[in-house]
Amino acid sequence: MFSEKKVMIPGPTPVIGPIREEMGREMQAFGDPRFVRDYKDLIDGLAELVACKGQAFPLAGTGTLAMEMAVANSTRPGDDILIVSHGFFGDRFIDICERKGRKTDVISSKWGETVSIEDLEERLDSKEYRAVFVTHVDTSTGVRAPIAEIGELLKSYPDTLYILDGVAATGGEYTHMTDMNIDILFTGSQKAFGVCPGMFVLWAGNKALERRAEIGKISEYYVDFEKWLPIMEDPSRYFATPAVNLVWAMKKSMEIMQDEGMKERAARHERNGRAMQKAFENMGFTVLAKPECRTTTLSCLIYPEGINDADFRAKLSEEGIVIAGALAEFAGKACRVGHMGNIDSDLLISVIATMENTMRASGVNVEIGSSVAAFTKALEG
Ligand SMILES: *Cc1c(COP(=O)(O)O)cnc(C)c1O
Repeated sequence: MFSEKKVMIPGPTPVIGPIREEMGREMQAFGDPRFVRDYKDLIDGLAELVACKGQAFPLAGTGTLAMEMAVANSTRPGDDILIVSHGFFGDRFIDICERKGRKTDVISSKWGETVSIEDLEERLDSKEYRAVFVTHVDTSTGVRAPIAEIGELLKSYPDTLYILDGVAATGGEYTHMTDMNIDILFTGSQKAFGVCPGMFVLWAGNKALERRAEIGKISEYYVDFEKWLPIMEDPSRYFATPAVNLVWAMKKSMEIMQDEGMKERAARHERNGRAMQKAFENMGFTVLAKPECRTTTLSCLIYPEGINDADFRAKLSEEGIVIAGALAEFAGKACRVGHMGNIDSDLLISVIATMENTMRASGVNVEIGSSVAAFTKALEG
């Protein structure tokens, strides 16, 4: 009643004060030398953050637009592409690619599991694919793909670009484009970057930039690398208006990540995420993703017998914690909790305590305080 609701869905994630303040700053012209410097710092700093040797494009739009940008600049209509799908967002790639006339093959897993490296290798041997699309963390299932192993495998297929949807992962799960052999990576501002929705970052490695040059004119306009490359080089030039305040907010988020360190940030997500999952299991939930492919950024939680999803989430929301419903076949049977971004353990503890209370109020027999204890014990190792 007295405090704001805590938004614990898998994006948007909580936006901390210093980032929120950037959103309220007084406007500057996009050609103002101060803004141009800030934008350039963001563009260059973002590339370093994930070890991208090519170009980072932080632009207005959401993660879905980044998906289109990735497809449009890396392949032509008629190209054979392979989509590795672990759920809802993998399936979104299929729709985008088919609309754009790509010849699309799909290899998918059961929800909660991943496609095996052996199956992937077998597919790659069956055809010459121009690109492989993988979702790092599928937000519908909380499943994490083995991105380093896939990158290693793709070294044997040098004509196939490796395109990774990092929207619910990058900035939480560790991602190193060079070491992991990733050609295109992208994310949205509202996920592990902890910024308001409205901006995406797409990173293109050198191989991806070469591919763009090779495929000639494309039918897309706003998302064409060639339109943006001169702007990314010199942001005082105009192509389309930059999202000024989001540039500042992303820059603040980037600085927070630089200070924390990307490895340390991933380790924090690992510690907190695993401890959250212990606490959820303690209150009677089953984590959908198998332990060997479970992400650290969010959890898809299957309810114990007898809990009504809509009632549970409504009660929880009255107590100030907002979580998300599940998608597709798990709608009504599971819920999803985001635990990524700039989140302290005191927030996580209050989420656990409130969820546990709500479980008890819904008739689940869980000992008072035991889920917070499970969390704390797991943190201590
Ligand atoms: C959220 C999400 C998207 C879509 O991003 P929008 O910003 O909602 O367009 C794509 N892929 C994954 C894995 C996501 O989690």
